[in-house]
Amino acid sequence: MGRRLLLPHTRRLMLFLRPMRYSASATATATAGSLRDPLHVCVVGSGPAGFYTAEKMLKGREGVRVDIIDRLPTPFGLVRSGVAPDHPETKIVVNQFSRVAANPRCSFFGNVTLGSDLSLSELRKTYDVVVLAYGAESDRSFGIPGEDLRGIHSAREFVWWYNGHPDMCNLAPDLTNTDSAVVLGQGNVALDVARILLRCTTELASTDIADYALDALRSSTIRKVYLVGRRGPVQAACTAKELREILGNYKMCLKNVNVYIKEADLATSPADKEEMRNSRIKRRVYELLSKAATVHQENNDNDRKELHFVFFRKPTKFLPSEDGSTVGAMELEKTLLKDDGATGKQVAVGTGEFEELKCGIVLKSIGYKSLPIEGLSFDKYRGVVPNLRGRVLSSESETATVEPGLYVVGWLKRGPTGIVATNLHCAEETVDSILEDDRKGLFTDPSGPKRQGRRGLLEILEQKNARYVPFDGWEKIDTKEKADGELKNKPREKITRWNELLEAAREG
Ligand code: NAP
Repeated sequence: MGRRLLLPHTRRLMLFLRPMRYSASATATATAGSLRDPLHVCVVGSGPAGFYTAEKMLKGREGVRVDIIDRLPTPFGLVRSGVAPDHPETKIVVNQFSRVAANPRCSFFGNVTLGSDLSLSELRKTYDVVVLAYGAESDRSFGIPGEDLRGIHSAREFVWWYNGHPDMCNLAPDLTNTDSAVVLGQGNVALDVARILLRCTTELASTDIADYALDALRSSTIRKVYLVGRRGPVQAACTAKELREILGNYKMCLKNVNVYIKEADLATSPADKEEMRNSRIKRRVYELLSKAATVHQENNDNDRKELHFVFFRKPTKFLPSEDGSTVGAMELEKTLLKDDGATGKQVAVGTGEFEELKCGIVLKSIGYKSLPIEGLSFDKYRGVVPNLRGRVLSSESETATVEPGLYVVGWLKRGPTGIVATNLHCAEETVDSILEDDRKGLFTDPSGPKRQGRRGLLEILEQKNARYVPFDGWEKIDTKEKADGELKNKPREKITRWNELLEAAREG
């Protein structure tokens, strides 16, 4: 990785930071032989960030034992419950992760929740190194009136629902009371949910979509989806590849959908042009949207569904339906873009002009949010654990110290952005920090307590009567899902209920 510029604050922190638990003599006693001693590592979270970390630790350090815990009985995090069902190629990475799990120095403990089955402090006493990779399981919110009306869901909830996440199998979004859905936000998650709402169900039928979601989409009356962004087409947060899937004309693209973009919204300012000069992605996204504004409008077949890109509109209120039982419309304020004065970023500023957009369901797709756990420092504003190249810091302040043996990776480390592969580089950075600390002898204090690793974890789980699902339990789930899927010409039929997952993991 190339050299990176450090912010003045970070530079000061680096000068100040020093390991807390380990004495100077411990550092001095580090020997080359110590790198062959067992090193007990626990990774919390089995999504891409967790598995890449495990893989890199196993490759990078002799004698390391890696245990991966996850609150779900199933591994792979967002690859299983986040990646859209019509993106099977993105899921192939689970083969690589399964090979990591098959390493005799690696174990998986599903159905184990940090915070309730065991505390962070217990985990830190049990392992030399704890790496937090539990991602972002909550949502940003608007904080505007009406946000708790029925018919409003976060995109995460909706995505977990169609992907058969056991926490959302009962969401039951009502797709039959309306012909219009509003998706707030214009990132790739927003595109995913819009695509799933609009795609022909005959195409979805051969994916691993949850069976109840397929049934609901089959009877859906939604014909129009509005993708609402507070800024313009140059600032849309989606990427070109994902947009092409909606606007393009090849096999896996959306069919039978007319795309609507107002030509006036495509006008660009000098600041927009500058943004596009500096970013190839923005330029490509803008070009695709501009092209779609002309091409798709020519198709006037009445059977076609509609996808409307709505730019320069900021949500200000969720309005109830006439009988008050559910959401009935969005109040939106028109916006203009202004330089924020500090970073040079163009931000959306309200104009005081409002309009209503009728709908019967709203999906808020403005970003996932990580949650803190007891005993962990947390930057509430950014929704991340303060860290220096993956080393957890005691706070966000300039006088923060490194939390010994505690590391972070993935969305919990850098915020909810990036694709699956972004976690590879993120894991590399965190593992480099761990290996550097290991070489300094920070995990080999002879006067310190000996950590038990896996044996200690098993003792804690037994004491608490916590039933974990090992990797071969997941393999039983996997086998059953694939067999059930085969009967329906699907790659798998996901088991979506907690009790059924636990039962399937025990069977055989
Ligand atoms: P995202 O890319 O950060 O997009 C968030 C969207 O919400 C942006 O349009 C943003 O607009 C808007 N927003 C945020 N706060 C808002 C507010 N208060 N009011 C109005 N709008 C607001 O997040 P995401 O779509 O959840 O995706 C997360 C990450 O996963 C991204 O890196 C994405 O690329 C990745 N992902 C990739 C794929 C794929 O590769 N196929 C699929 C899904 C997700 P502003 O720009 O104005 O803030």
